[in-house]
Amino acid sequence: MTQSFGHVTLAGSGPGAVDHLTLAVARALATADVILHDRLVSAEVLALAGGQALVIETGKTGFGAQMPQEEIIALMLGFARTGRNVLRLKSGDPGVFGRLGEELDALDAAGIGFTVLPGITAASAAAASLGQSLTERGRNRELRLITGHDVAGFAEADWAGLARPGAVAAIYMGKKAARFLQGRLMMHGALATTPVTLVENVSRADARVLATTLADLPAAAARLTGPAVILFGLAPRAAAAPAIEAVI
Ligand code: SAH
Repeated sequence: MTQSFGHVTLAGSGPGAVDHLTLAVARALATADVILHDRLVSAEVLALAGGQALVIETGKTGFGAQMPQEEIIALMLGFARTGRNVLRLKSGDPGVFGRLGEELDALDAAGIGFTVLPGITAASAAAASLGQSLTERGRNRELRLITGHDVAGFAEADWAGLARPGAVAAIYMGKKAARFLQGRLMMHGALATTPVTLVENVSRADARVLATTLADLPAAAARLTGPAVILFGLAPRAAAAPAIEAVI
């Protein structure tokens, strides 16, 4: 039996603004037959989809209603097997807390070809909005990307490493874990005065920056309503962002 296999492009849309999209992803949007996108992919980005595209939201982000991962994979494989050119579009970079590996494994197992197109991850856009560098000579030679929670609940990390002076971490999905993060970090010796900046809806019109310290992280997190990345160990450069709110 001969089968016509399609192709799947797994791509990152960046954190929201269409300006943050790569040209490769913009082209993939214009030419895809089927677009399976996560909830955080902005309407602005989806507006670049070609008229022929079937656009399906998989809603897979953080807490709340979402399509089970197996169902997303089944859809992706199903459309690809009918010879359709499928775009699997995730927010930010597909390889950062995007379950990319599971989807690539499924494509491999099904013998379907794929291309991965990177995107700007939320941490990069957030640091840029603060006028800050994610790594800095003499301050931090390493940067950790960690998640506040995983399938098992609040996620453990190398707290002792993070508690060292100068350490920087970008914490994804950290809003609900704020008190847990604070507790773990302080238990391992992080100073209550360590700068922490929460960047909500980065690269969107309603972006908000809350500058605080580890002592007030839970209070600041409680004020967030949209997706936010927590930059532990980074304070906004003075006068960098127009709308910085201090939480003390
Ligand atoms: N692949 C994405 C991350 C997906 S996990 C990336 O590379 O950015 C979802 C988490 O990403 C959210 O809980 C939040 O922590 C972060 N995030 C995604 N979009 C964001 C945005 N526009 N502003 C701030 N944080 C964002």
